[in-house]
Amino acid sequence: MGQDKTNGKIRMTTPLVEMDGDEMTRIIWAKIKEILIEPFVELKTEYYDLGLKRRDETDDQITIDSAEATKKYGVAVKCATITPNAQRVEEYKLKKMWRSPNGTIRAILDGTVFRAPILVDCVKPMVRSWNKPITIARHAYGDVYKATEFEVGKPGKVELVYTTADGNEARELVQEFKAPGVAMGMHNTDASISSFARSCFNYALSTKQSLWFSTKDTILKKYDGRFKEIFQGIFEKEYKEKFDKAGIEYFYTLIDDAVARVVRSEGGFIWACKNYDGDVMSDMVATAFGSLAMMTSVLVSPDGYFEYEAAHGTVTRHYYKHLEGEETSTNAMATIFAWTGALRKRGELDGIPELIAFADKLEKASIDTIESGVMTKDLFAIADMPGKKAVNTVEFLNAIAEKL
Ligand code: NAP
Ligand code: MG
Repeated sequence: MGQDKTNGKIRMTTPLVEMDGDEMTRIIWAKIKEILIEPFVELKTEYYDLGLKRRDETDDQITIDSAEATKKYGVAVKCATITPNAQRVEEYKLKKMWRSPNGTIRAILDGTVFRAPILVDCVKPMVRSWNKPITIARHAYGDVYKATEFEVGKPGKVELVYTTADGNEARELVQEFKAPGVAMGMHNTDASISSFARSCFNYALSTKQSLWFSTKDTILKKYDGRFKEIFQGIFEKEYKEKFDKAGIEYFYTLIDDAVARVVRSEGGFIWACKNYDGDVMSDMVATAFGSLAMMTSVLVSPDGYFEYEAAHGTVTRHYYKHLEGEETSTNAMATIFAWTGALRKRGELDGIPELIAFADKLEKASIDTIESGVMTKDLFAIADMPGKKAVNTVEFLNAIAEKL
């Protein structure tokens, strides 16, 4: 045991890829490290500053480098970052409207995003039976997000035409229009669906939770049918035994049946959704659990790389208040849990039980702090308990440190 410690702190062997970010979350980031991690862990990170200024200086190379480093080391922890729009280009005098860092990182790591709420007993889910978190796994490629749509102005025939590379042609009638309307074409690929499936199966194993998958294959027999088939094929070939051993299950059901089952469930599983379903259902599930500030997010690649972050953004409104010298009460929970998720995974991969135990303790201390009545303003507004007290961000972090 003594060998695993330096100055009484927990020693790490492999560095975490640390991706710093913007605005209020950048400030919270530094405070979490200073107050909650560095006093206990001999923190080893390879630091990448994904703050907008640095992305602009490096022509966004820093984002690419940080994703490549994640492939090298396996685990990253990311602070929320600004996705520039026209107003940000002006505000930061940017050379270009750089792409979303999350999009860039996802394109390099090719992953699926898993979102799960952090539960505290004083914030009751709107659905009474939910007492464990529900994790949504959203496919992040294709379907309506990469569709071609158009308006049909006059009567006419809309067809889908598929021309193979060697010149063969197949046509399907979409609709014979007698009057104006709308039409669209969309797609997905076996490769993307397969990597989505593997990410889901890997994540289910790594968190020891059962996996549900739902589509509408009774209507889209070929399109959604392909999703169902690919999941089933990969499961039977590569994962069935591992699932049996872990005591978890995989099952497929129709999306409407899934919705009914989710609402009647007590939680504690992963719900894999196609791109649009995941977009809609994750907002519903997050809101029903209480607060966006309590939602964690992890990108899992089919090759087994992990990138942890908070689901929320850089909390710009609070940052502007902070800049004006006003005290802010921004909830640090999701960012703390990004750190604990990454440290725990590093501990598992490197065989450092003390690091895993530390991640567990930090999460427990954070939840205990809220459950003892000390919380940031967002939770204060919705918490159902007597004697609750609203504190600012640093007071909140210090209260957690005391419990640690
Ligand atoms: P946001 O940062 O998530 O904040 C929206 C609102 O939600 C806040 O104004 C605040 O409400 C509440 N909120 C979110 N997180 C909170 C927390 N930790 N504690 C307390 N309240 C919290 O979304 P946004 O304002 O739309 O976006 C700001 C920037 O973040 C944008 O530049 C966007 O590009 C970026 N963004 C980044 C990511 C990412 O890196 N993953 C994700 C989303 C957005 P009140 O104002 O009512 O207190
Ligand atoms: Mg959405």
